[in-house]
Amino acid sequence: MTITAIKGINDILPNAVGKWQLVESVARRIFTNFGFQEIRIPILEKTELFARSIGESTDIVEKEMYTFPDRNGQLLTLRPEATASVVRAFIQHRLHLQPSMRKFYTIGPMFRHERPQKGRYRQFHQINVEVFAIDDPMVDAEVIYLLLVFLEELNIPDITLHLNSMGCPDCRQPFRQSLTSYLDSVSAKLCSDCQRRRSTNPLRIFDCKVESCRQLVAKAPVLMDHLCDDCVDNFQSVKDHLDSLGVSYTIDPHMVRGLDYYNRTTFEAITPHLGAQNAVGGGGRYDGLMKTLGGPDLPATGFAIGMERLILLLDEQTDVETGPNRLFVACLGEEAQRRGFGLVQELRLRDLFVEMDYESRSLKAQMRRADKLSVTHVLILGEDELARGAATLRNMETSTQEEIPLEGLTEQILSRLKLSDQELT
Ligand code: ATP
Ligand code: MG
Repeated sequence: MTITAIKGINDILPNAVGKWQLVESVARRIFTNFGFQEIRIPILEKTELFARSIGESTDIVEKEMYTFPDRNGQLLTLRPEATASVVRAFIQHRLHLQPSMRKFYTIGPMFRHERPQKGRYRQFHQINVEVFAIDDPMVDAEVIYLLLVFLEELNIPDITLHLNSMGCPDCRQPFRQSLTSYLDSVSAKLCSDCQRRRSTNPLRIFDCKVESCRQLVAKAPVLMDHLCDDCVDNFQSVKDHLDSLGVSYTIDPHMVRGLDYYNRTTFEAITPHLGAQNAVGGGGRYDGLMKTLGGPDLPATGFAIGMERLILLLDEQTDVETGPNRLFVACLGEEAQRRGFGLVQELRLRDLFVEMDYESRSLKAQMRRADKLSVTHVLILGEDELARGAATLRNMETSTQEEIPLEGLTEQILSRLKLSDQELT
């Protein structure tokens, strides 16, 4: 029996990879301009890292992590998200002592054992952004602005920004009590998960996907109405900065993020085009996480974007750049093949896309392959041409051709192709 990939874990084939590269290159360019530096963190971590940071009673930790003992019996987890690892790395390498390193981004696969469907997979990819050690609401606004600028640069349509405040421990504690009494009054109607969450982590009920719970939650008290004065001021300040950047937003007091570590401003970028999988990206402040994980008590904020959802939303027309000029070298006969093989390598070293056929097939077959590769030019090295000390360069776009002497052939080709490059731009 043939072996197939694991359900919900997909290959990205060459004909799709261009969009991925486009998304990554736009991210790198924009994030760099915003002062972010790339950090690359491992895919495998000790389970404890995620259990402690994401929260024991979240869906991720309760149901979705890929966790297994390694050969020494140590419990490991395929990362379900990146923030915990970036924080761990920051603490481990004592980066708080290096003021040049405050803003990080990272791109890579995450793993969650969820039910696979459109926009939801078991291996998926995220672009993550994290800012450490800066407490100012200006940074919350900047991170949100960055998310939107990035989506706009990729022409992702109809995004709305949802904004909420998760308060701080001071306002969350009293709120928890009023939420719990509401939940007690409707407890018979809650799903079994939420029955349990009621005592372990009542705020998680806002994240429940069960329809009956969602209806109950719609009538529940919200943290937004219970914020302490400092949190109200802080949220107002974030909104003021967003206003001054011209960002519009919707206040969504029912939005809680799927992870426990958030406080104060949280946000999600929502699309109407992906059904239930409507969040393209989301994030917020998580000031307590660094300390929880044994590091210095430093504030933090960030977001994660789901790349599969982005790719689904990318305009079909989004053209993926191939180098403007592409050459195919068609060789007829053994001597031509030998010379062509050397020429192809030489031109590649001069930064040109060049391909050839290795199987000495007919000119017709080789031209068909050239066509499939969408080359702009074909160089024909035939026996007759070789005997004359020449080769034929065919321009596939204009269907014209010219003969070029073999002597100085490389330079001749380069000057023709690079010249028409410039004409194209
Ligand atoms: P959702 O509510 O859709 O499950 P989430 O709140 O669990 O999302 P986050 O943990 O905030 O998601 O991750 C950030 C982004 O990563 C999401 O907005 C989404 O675009 C993407 N994402 C999350 N889980 C998956 C998945 N299983 N498959 C594909 N993309 C995902
Ligand atoms: Mg989820």
